[in-house]
Amino acid sequence: MSDVLILGGGIAGLSAAAHLARHMRVTVIEAEDALGYHSSGRSVSFSHYGIGNAAVRGLTAWSRSFYEAQPAGFCDTPLARPVPTIYLAREETLPALEALHAEMARFTDAVRWIGPAEIEALCPVVRTGAGQAVKAVLDPTGLKLDADALLQSFARQVRAAGSEILTGQRIAAIEATGEGWRVRSEGGESRTARILVNAAGAWGDRMAALAGVAPIGLQPKRRTIIVVDPPAGTDVSAWPFVHSAGGDFYMLPEAGQILVSPVDEVEDDPCDARPEDYDVALAAHQLEQYTTLPVPRIAHRWAGLRSFVADRVPTAGFDREAPGFFWLVGQGGYGLQTAPAMAAIVEALITGSAWPEGLDALGVGPAQVTPDRLRNGSAHSVAT
Ligand SMILES: Cc1cc2nc3c(=O)[nH]c(=O)nc-3n(C[C@H](O)[C@H](O)[C@H](O)COP(=O)(O)OP(=O)(O)OC[C@H]3O[C@@H](n4cnc5c(N)ncnc54)[C@H](O)[C@@H]3O)c2cc1C
Repeated sequence: MSDVLILGGGIAGLSAAAHLARHMRVTVIEAEDALGYHSSGRSVSFSHYGIGNAAVRGLTAWSRSFYEAQPAGFCDTPLARPVPTIYLAREETLPALEALHAEMARFTDAVRWIGPAEIEALCPVVRTGAGQAVKAVLDPTGLKLDADALLQSFARQVRAAGSEILTGQRIAAIEATGEGWRVRSEGGESRTARILVNAAGAWGDRMAALAGVAPIGLQPKRRTIIVVDPPAGTDVSAWPFVHSAGGDFYMLPEAGQILVSPVDEVEDDPCDARPEDYDVALAAHQLEQYTTLPVPRIAHRWAGLRSFVADRVPTAGFDREAPGFFWLVGQGGYGLQTAPAMAAIVEALITGSAWPEGLDALGVGPAQVTPDRLRNGSAHSVAT
């Protein structure tokens, strides 16, 4: 019998497992044959301050030291490389960008305003001038993360500590045993543990329902990415991650190609998300609106789910009505960039050790992440 069962082999489950495996015997159970098959493998894998709310920025800030100076022996290759981000404003979206700039400036003093000449110098295809980008905020501290290296390195740590990861086992039944929890897979295999960590991503509320635990209102939202080739001879490698302040477009260079999103947030059920034709066409349209790039062909496309609770802050903590049932869900569009902080929080809450040092000062204490906040009506829906 393990001490902890973790349902879900995405970034949330694996990073938490790596931390807990230092103290106890952990079993991660993943439904798919491959780790990170769902949201964690479909991300654009970036860390930046332009997304989320104050708590998310605090979690992001705390996590940065892990990415900037990765722990010795964690991974042979760099987990992160610097890529600047720019946020474009047209006249009508300037107020939104001013508000975003103020939020970002609370966490980094490196952000600054730039004008059309500097925008074009950073990314020559961005349309500037009347009706187009008039100003931008440049954040030079953006980091492009290596999601696969992260997932595999956390998994390696789990196994090296003597804990285990089971793949291809979809949990179909969960019951309280009195001393803990028993889970049973579709294939009939069963496992028990004192503590059950629900890190099932978009399926978080479904897992709770299987366990007879009340849902916390997790809403999966689909996001679409298309991949296009730049015109022949164009080297995109030094381009920044370009966002619109209006929240309807982003693009970033990746391995010689360009990833583009219409920044869609379409409510969906937990599923193997597929891109819809409308969102694919919208991504291509937005690329042509914001840049001078033509889109003669879409090389590749995918979609993934980003799952949010009402206040869009990731959730970690024991359920107050179900002893030993621990929530680790709601990572939204920032599950990779906040994973080091969230894993440290899980370690503190499950082992009873101290709250991660410095996280309070960044505005994140237990009250920000507890599932209780979603049950007593104190979490407000916010659009960020
Ligand atoms: C297009 C896109 C772009 C993104 N860009 C970024 C970004 O730039 N930066 C960033 O930080 N984040 C980004 N994100 C968000 C990030 O990908 C997520 O926040 C993160 O991957 C969530 O991790 P997770 O482990 O909670 O979920 P998942 O990776 O989905 O893992 C949950 C796992 O639980 C498993 N599971 C479910 N049900 C069961 C069951 N019954 N039995 C066993 N296992 C089960 C699933 O198979 C799944 O593997 C992006 C997401 C998308 C879709």
